[in-house]
Amino acid sequence: MQHTKTADTPMPSTSDPIDTARPHLGATVPVALFRALRVNGMMTGLDAAIGDASTLVYSAGRTVGAPIGKDIAAKANGDLGAFLGGVVETSKVLGIGVISLVPGSLTDSGLTLRVDECVTCAGAEPMGKKICHFEGGFIASVVEGFTGKPAIATETHCNANGDDACVFHVDL
Ligand SMILES: [Zn+2]
Repeated sequence: MQHTKTADTPMPSTSDPIDTARPHLGATVPVALFRALRVNGMMTGLDAAIGDASTLVYSAGRTVGAPIGKDIAAKANGDLGAFLGGVVETSKVLGIGVISLVPGSLTDSGLTLRVDECVTCAGAEPMGKKICHFEGGFIASVVEGFTGKPAIATETHCNANGDDACVFHVDL
């Protein structure tokens, strides 16, 4: 839902249930809270409960990304450039990160996407490992929305691993 608060409309729209239910707090939460849920709860907590939860977390990202990828693909109407532009714009609007196609990486068998300002790990203390399994699953299923074929995303670089951005190679 589009939020259109301006100086002319200081009161929340009664048509937006989140703004109506949270008139003082609004529809967004701090990145620090997101990371507490995403890194401590969804990763560390699940790892403690079931061992390596990376596949489960990746799968959760796939579930979240699938309808978003289909929506972007429908609007792109078969145009790869429009689709990638939609992915970049949607990721920015959702605050996931600043996504860009690594130049020269697009082939018939795959592509590589760089994510700067990753919501999960940009600026985080290095943990000595790559942690963006959710984002990998999200990216894979979003790409599938366009190709209609199974895709697998592998995170090759991660802020949490001491790199300067997250990078995902997507096998098509
Ligand atoms: Zn990462």
